[in-house]
Amino acid sequence: MTLLIRGGTVVTHDTTFCADVLCEDGTIIAVGPDLDAPADAEIVDAKGQYVMPGGIDPHTHMQMPFMGATASEDFYTGTAAALAGGTTMIIDFVIPNPGQSLIEAYRTWRGWAEKAAADYSFHVAVTWWADSVAEEMGTLVREYGVNSFKHFMAYKNALMATDDILVESFTRCLELGAVPNVHAENGDLVAHLQQKLLAQGITGPEAHPLSRPPQVEGEAAGRAIRIAGTLGAPVYLVHVSTKDALDEITTARASGQVVFGEVLAGHLLLDDSVYQNEDWATAAAYVMSPPFRPKGHQEALWNGLRSGNLQTTATDHCCFCAEQKAMGRDDFTKIPNGTAGVEDRMALLWDAGVNAGKLSMQEFVAVTSTNTAKIFNLYPRKGAVSVGSDADLVVWDPHGKRNLSAKTHHQNIDFNIFEGLEVTGIPRHTISRGKLVWSDGELRAESGAGRYVDRPPYPGLYDSLRKRNELATPKAVVR
Ligand SMILES: [Zn+2]
Repeated sequence: MTLLIRGGTVVTHDTTFCADVLCEDGTIIAVGPDLDAPADAEIVDAKGQYVMPGGIDPHTHMQMPFMGATASEDFYTGTAAALAGGTTMIIDFVIPNPGQSLIEAYRTWRGWAEKAAADYSFHVAVTWWADSVAEEMGTLVREYGVNSFKHFMAYKNALMATDDILVESFTRCLELGAVPNVHAENGDLVAHLQQKLLAQGITGPEAHPLSRPPQVEGEAAGRAIRIAGTLGAPVYLVHVSTKDALDEITTARASGQVVFGEVLAGHLLLDDSVYQNEDWATAAAYVMSPPFRPKGHQEALWNGLRSGNLQTTATDHCCFCAEQKAMGRDDFTKIPNGTAGVEDRMALLWDAGVNAGKLSMQEFVAVTSTNTAKIFNLYPRKGAVSVGSDADLVVWDPHGKRNLSAKTHHQNIDFNIFEGLEVTGIPRHTISRGKLVWSDGELRAESGAGRYVDRPPYPGLYDSLRKRNELATPKAVVR
């Protein structure tokens, strides 16, 4: 099937030009002025609009079992909401229980994801260590298209990876050519502060940010970065929410270390005053980790994006409805952690970034799509508007307006953390694998239309790292 996007302005991470874009059988087959299309081709009028690579959200948790609940958004509803927001691919997380086979867990998540409406891929978490874990990591990289492994430095006695696990796993990642990801929060400190707050009788959501202050993230970020630096491995920090962690990244990058940082739309836009809401359910709806931060951190994170020290934006989309959040009514540590956003990220980044003069249009494309594609070795299949790339595109209306609200969003959750915010700049059309799936407010998402995307190891990154590590290898003194 053929689709022609006519008369728009193409914006990529490095250039802007007027061109039509012709898609056939899921692939972009021509980009240029005044393209002809077969008589039966579907035509999308993009006059006055921008044609950009579809968004890639590198951090979502659809249908995740967590803290005694299961995320309310499944792979169909979640990817459909993503498409309505101009995001055409997600990278979700396989999270094996400690002791569980990584491949068994991977198969479970692959099964859940079969109904996805948009393309998807998986990071796999390392939550425990044994020789069999190292072996399965190899199988996942070689045979299952996984090139990134996630490590939770938080969630003590549950998912937490202690330093010994980080050392083993980062070393293995380096051998395999995979990128280690970390959730940087000091789990021991969090557990200690949680107990202290509960003992003081502070049991509501206002205790959540107090149990995870900025230095808890800064310490863990610094530790993960130094472990990776010592081993000569790269490291990718998910949801960087503080100036403390950003400073660690900035210093390490300035010294030549390969460190990547991701920031969530929520952390760029919201602050910790949300936890002071007198309505328990409203305050609890914002409980996610790391928490929203005191004023001042948001500006630092924007500067991180602009300076290139943070490269990607995500949502950590993990939906729990009011009745699930209520599990923590008497104890904030039992409130399922997570907030939504997969549908809103692109519009938020455009409105608060491009419209506010904080990001150029090219930078917008870089931080919402292309940089993720590059770091996780999807580029130029994804994140590009060029011949041969997947036809995953968004036609962006810079004048369109939308009021963000749980009443109108497509996300399967009864709350929107950006409720009432009006954004200017919205996806008018979304094209997924060459098909028009969102058009003028009409969602045509199709269960099962999304495909699993293999991400092989990234030679461009690892060849230079290996060379660097080899040159730095010490030699024994000959005696
Ligand atoms: Zn997450």
